[in-house]
Amino acid sequence: MQINFISLASGSSGNCFYIGTNDYGILIDAGIAVRNIKRRLRNAGLDLSKVRAVFITHDHIDHIKSAGVLSEKSFFPIYATEKTHEAMDNSYVFQQKVYSGKRIIEKKSPVAIDDFTIEAFGISHDGCDCVGYTIRFDDKRFTLVTDLGYICENAKEHIINADYLVIEANYDEQMLDSGKYPLSLKQRIRGNTGHLSNRQTAEFLSENINKKLSHVWLCHLSRENNLPQLAYKTVAEKLKEKDINVNLYVLPRTSPSDVFVL
Ligand SMILES: [Zn+2]
Ligand SMILES: [Zn+2]
Repeated sequence: MQINFISLASGSSGNCFYIGTNDYGILIDAGIAVRNIKRRLRNAGLDLSKVRAVFITHDHIDHIKSAGVLSEKSFFPIYATEKTHEAMDNSYVFQQKVYSGKRIIEKKSPVAIDDFTIEAFGISHDGCDCVGYTIRFDDKRFTLVTDLGYICENAKEHIINADYLVIEANYDEQMLDSGKYPLSLKQRIRGNTGHLSNRQTAEFLSENINKKLSHVWLCHLSRENNLPQLAYKTVAEKLKEKDINVNLYVLPRTSPSDVFVL
């Protein structure tokens, strides 16, 4: 089975990922305008009409912006945990709500979409009820984990068993420290319910990586407190120290990535 993966956007201005076969796919998060989702898929030779469902990681607007439009205008099922749906219902910045497309996913209760089995697992971030996802196909595991302050046991279990991994590398610690953000925001980002730094991701991967992990995509880079080359270098160097060989990529913030054939 040929699986295609593309990041349509990744970062605090919007997140949206597509994974699918040649016949169908799913979106993870819908944090950019529907016209951009459509256009970016089309430019990559993919098609929104093949999307069977949308899975939401958490209720921050950069992850949910167009979920309501996808649900009510295009009738896509929108999977999120019950608490995340509640938070979306109650969010004043999330204007078009999800009604008809509302689907509940429970953590550790996988949902089947054709040949994909999709499992949500809890992670530590300051959204209402944040999850990462592992998608199983054939005997492979694709894990996506973004927006997390530290790697809790749940997340660890999924990350270390992945064949393909999308993981946050939000900020460079020195850039954040010396940057212009107010102290309270710096503390929020660094905290256990904030975001992962390049170093945290690099150290975790270098200490816990499994041999079958073949691809790592670094995601949700901060515009103010990170640089793609720096995120790449920090992680690549740590992996090299341990003689670990993986295909390592950095996902662009506001433009689509290449299409990766898994
Ligand atoms: Zn985010
Ligand atoms: Zn978030």
